Amino acid sequence: MVESEAHKKYEFKRTLEALRNKHGRGTELISLYIPHDKQIHEISSQLREEFGQASNIKSRVTRQNVTGAIESLLSRLKLIPKAPENGVVIFCGAVDIGANKTDMETFIIEPPEPIISYKYHCDSSFLLIPLEDMLHEKKSYGLIVLDRREASIGLLRGKHIEPMAHLTSMVPGKQRKGGQSSHRFQQLRLIAINEFYTRIGEAANGVFLAVDPKDMEGIFIGGPSPTKEEFHSGEYLHHELQKKIIDLYDVAYTDESGLYELFDKLGDALQNVEVIQEKKYMERFMKELVGDSGLSSYGEEQVRKNLQMGSVDTLLLSDELRKIRLTIKCGNCGYEEKKTITKKLSDEDYQPGNCTKCGSGLNITESIDIIDDLSSIADQMGTNTVFISSDFEEGNQLLTAFGGIAAILRFNTGI
Ligand code: ZN
Repeated sequence: MVESEAHKKYEFKRTLEALRNKHGRGTELISLYIPHDKQIHEISSQLREEFGQASNIKSRVTRQNVTGAIESLLSRLKLIPKAPENGVVIFCGAVDIGANKTDMETFIIEPPEPIISYKYHCDSSFLLIPLEDMLHEKKSYGLIVLDRREASIGLLRGKHIEPMAHLTSMVPGKQRKGGQSSHRFQQLRLIAINEFYTRIGEAANGVFLAVDPKDMEGIFIGGPSPTKEEFHSGEYLHHELQKKIIDLYDVAYTDESGLYELFDKLGDALQNVEVIQEKKYMERFMKELVGDSGLSSYGEEQVRKNLQMGSVDTLLLSDELRKIRLTIKCGNCGYEEKKTITKKLSDEDYQPGNCTKCGSGLNITESIDIIDDLSSIADQMGTNTVFISSDFEEGNQLLTAFGGIAAILRFNTGI
């Protein structure tokens, strides 16, 4: 299956979420971070040392669990002659499964970014911070600060600002010189302003389009009013970048220090960027829906039809959608149907009943998570898939009022 970046990221997030909820009853969960160039035999000998040390653990249960986990890790390592390109992380330990019971579980993760340093960590929960950092660190933001005389363009990565371009203009001040007609002067001034905005746009395009689009999270613009608003509404940026503008801020400086001033003002906005973008998508969906433009669709059946037609621009999926899509077949006459059921009911509990054609018993031949099912159709059709959390009102509405599945369409299909 072709997987989009958004989908991979979603899966990675889900995996981290699942790992975060696992706890040991003592200090007995082991996290092993192995960089690509680390020799496996060195790790094995270190683990054997840890195994020896574990015999000093006082609690019998913890001791048994730790040595059990180390043995399990050692046998896993035999299957890995060399860590993959980004390295590998192995989580292993006796996980508390309630009712006074534990279960020895192992998780092997190939991270999306290279592991820098080797880590052996034993605690009552798994060590996830290095993986969680990968989720954030890749993000880049474009920063532009401008007035009519000067502009600076920078890139924000993590907490680091890289100033990338600085421009100045010859836009004359508001005061005209003697002998010039007021009307002519205003005209020339507007032309000069427009030219300057165009140059800023071109310079910003050069910087921001060089960043891998999937890492470019958004753009913030700072400056005095109405300059920044004019630049925003005049659409001087490439249309793909124009869509990524998140917000505008009042900033006094427009040289390099203005970039830092803008960054300081972002504050919580950066934390909330994902939610802001999700909100924007939901607002667009609601606008199309309320305006009855025919450019919105919701509910599994309608959205699926639109997806298959290639008419979906953006697929909106609630990240709390928990459903599976079953393929049910009759072994006798070959009758086949597809059915979506909620995940609480696992496919093992689900009774497909009898064939409506011939009366024989039906069998489940395939079961797939609905998110995988819909996003793989979306990937084939060049549709953008966005996962929407239910932490905000419209996101919660997507889950409760629209079945967790909605779409913004490229054209009206009447479906
Ligand atoms: Zn049949």
